[in-house]
Amino acid sequence: MENTKEMRKWLDGMNLPHPLVIAGPCSAETEEQVLKIAHELKDTDVNYYRAGIWKPRTRPGNFEGVGAIGLKWLQKVKEETGLKTATEVANRAHVDLALEHDVDLLWIGARSTVSPFIVQEIADALEGTDKVVLIKNPVNPDLSLWLGAVERLYTANIKKLGVIHRGFSTYEKTKYRNIPEWQMAIELQSRFPDLPIINDPSHITGKRDMIFDVSQTALDLNFDGLMIETHHDPDNAWSDAAQQVTPETLVQIMRDLRIRKETDQEAEYNSKLSNLRAQIDVIDNQLVDTMGKRMKISDEIGKLKKQKNVAVLQSNRWNAILGNMILEGEQRGLSEEFVLRMFKAIHQESINHQEKIINN
Ligand code: PEP
Ligand code: MN
Repeated sequence: MENTKEMRKWLDGMNLPHPLVIAGPCSAETEEQVLKIAHELKDTDVNYYRAGIWKPRTRPGNFEGVGAIGLKWLQKVKEETGLKTATEVANRAHVDLALEHDVDLLWIGARSTVSPFIVQEIADALEGTDKVVLIKNPVNPDLSLWLGAVERLYTANIKKLGVIHRGFSTYEKTKYRNIPEWQMAIELQSRFPDLPIINDPSHITGKRDMIFDVSQTALDLNFDGLMIETHHDPDNAWSDAAQQVTPETLVQIMRDLRIRKETDQEAEYNSKLSNLRAQIDVIDNQLVDTMGKRMKISDEIGKLKKQKNVAVLQSNRWNAILGNMILEGEQRGLSEEFVLRMFKAIHQESINHQEKIINN
């Protein structure tokens, strides 16, 4: 992909004094609801008003979106408030209808990005459009699928492109609805440094009280904008009730976020520093998480040893691990002394865990 600088012209051209903000309800529910929220967002930092129109849910039988009638409501939003509009498209029919109704920004949802069939169908339908098109990451943490979707849209000659990081699903229960796997977004940024990247803290957290922190991390990692689900009565929203915030809360979040301005040298230094620190924070969190997982497995081993009445410490096994890790560490620029100290600490914690189990 050449000439990627063009990708961010649409965003740079907006000359925003703050990150790009896309806000509005998860789903369009009624005309009154759509218009009410839009009017409440009218004089805020919001740049695009979002509302999902087609909403097939994970399990059928729930609210499935209002369908094409919602596009008329979005047109009214634009007429009455001047806000630009945004919605999700998942097939050629959606694209045709959205373009007919002059939706300004179309995004491809996480469930669509997983399918190159669907992505190609949407790319063909959008060929050459001058609308903004954003691609959400696939639900599963597969960077190639995400990159592939960007390439398909780029090849369809769509100039105003960007991506949305909305987290990844896991089988494991975590504090997130969709774990951020920040390194995946960082990797995407390093492959396409000019491609605007928007964070969607609503779908990452699934909980409104976690939205601020995830948004701040995203800005520290140089994200270009935020998509935040916003509803005048979140608790009674017809979809994703727990993660939506009121327009008032959205304004407060935007006010409280530390937004880096890259104006002078000092600011650039600070911006670089906070970006690197945010990357370190991501990795430190992963380290602790990984250690927690390691100790859980160690507990399982402890239980097995207890059943068989085997001693906790087996020095052959331990020496083999150490030998391997010293070699692995060497290849990554880690000194033998550091690797030994680190593993001594890990090993000690592991022994403590197993002894607790055996003596219980
Ligand atoms: C949404 O933005 O409402 C949505 C359905 O998101 P995702 O595709 O990220 O699940
Ligand atoms: Mn939603």
